[in-house]
Amino acid sequence: MSTFDQVIDRRDTRSLKWTRYGRDVLPLWVADMDFPAPEPVLQALHSAVDHGVFGYELPTRKLGETVAARMEKLYGWKDEVSSNAVEVYVHGLRKKLENPQFVERAKPEVVAQARQRIAELEERRAKVKATLDELGRLLESGEAGTRPYAAVTVDDGYRDAYDLALPTFRRLGIPAAFFVVTDLVGSREVPLHDRLYYQLARGYAREGRVPRAMWHALDRIDVPPAKRLRLHRALNPFDALQALLESVTQAEARAIAERLEVEAPFPAAVAERFCCADWSMVRAMAEAGMTVGSHTRTHVFLNRERHATVTDQTSGSRRRLEAELGRPVAHFAYPAGQFNPSAVKAVSAAGYRFAYTACRHILPAHARLTIPRKLLWERSCVAADGSFSPSVMNAQVSGLYDLVNPPCALDHGTILRPMLASACC
Ligand SMILES: [Zn+2]
Ligand SMILES: [Zn+2]
Repeated sequence: MSTFDQVIDRRDTRSLKWTRYGRDVLPLWVADMDFPAPEPVLQALHSAVDHGVFGYELPTRKLGETVAARMEKLYGWKDEVSSNAVEVYVHGLRKKLENPQFVERAKPEVVAQARQRIAELEERRAKVKATLDELGRLLESGEAGTRPYAAVTVDDGYRDAYDLALPTFRRLGIPAAFFVVTDLVGSREVPLHDRLYYQLARGYAREGRVPRAMWHALDRIDVPPAKRLRLHRALNPFDALQALLESVTQAEARAIAERLEVEAPFPAAVAERFCCADWSMVRAMAEAGMTVGSHTRTHVFLNRERHATVTDQTSGSRRRLEAELGRPVAHFAYPAGQFNPSAVKAVSAAGYRFAYTACRHILPAHARLTIPRKLLWERSCVAADGSFSPSVMNAQVSGLYDLVNPPCALDHGTILRPMLASACC
């Protein structure tokens, strides 16, 4: 009997792939296959279990070499691996120089060399940070070359983008971009997606699923069965929010929120934390050398709305931004990365030169209006002890985790192709 003849039932074992879909679906994932692990792996695990003590261990040199060789072979990542080492090295060196005892005891030439080395490495590192305008110029001229450039963007224009992110970027010399929702700038309104998330989180806490009151509100709207099914299957409030916002128009979503808020209003005590920056803060961002771009007027999913709304949301927000900032606005970010060919056309007609999505799909005819971004969430780059981890961030940015997360399942239209081949699990 071969491995292929052996059927191992993994239903009801908390297996992600056997839980995510309905019981009648056979999930044919590639990395998570239903074969036992190879004998040498099992033996190594058994001997560790037999030893009985699981303390912290140093990775063996062989392991490091094996991983590095494989990353280089599969993805040509030699440079990224060494640049990550550079980050750690600079950090370690700087820490040493901050220690007066080290500086006192070390030979002066060693300290001088260390300072010189930091300056060289920082110089090398600074070159890869770019503004969106610089990146745009490279894209337009086709000069991007082989050098990796990085730009940082922050969506939604919450007040904490001004209070926390702006000073951090200024301190670190990172030329970031902020995409703001123009009707929310300076308003006291909590963004609709946060209001709906609150209702869903409350529902999951009380009922373990999308709350009954929300289904009643949805009954008044014509939501196709397939979309309702997705909402039914959402495992947590975040997935449910995505499924909901992708199924209804913004006016419908607003009506649902208002209906639920009659019984459970958004808590006034935390509303302040969810408010957006005001125009003086947005102007301060621009004056500090940051790029300010549009994220529509009301954070609308452009692929869900009528043409007139899409036009108003894209051109209206650009007009407002240009009037408030007194400078041209060339950059646009699609809320939640939702776009389709007509949204892209509207963005182009509104006069934007560059637009950013949230996945790897592109419209080949409008590549500069469907520039992919890597989304990083709160705590998405932390080590096991909760501290920031350059290695985890490196793996995120390099796309390593894309191999274990499902690729973007959005339907952006019919003429799309993935920018990079994506694995299915
Ligand atoms: Zn957004
Ligand atoms: Zn996509």
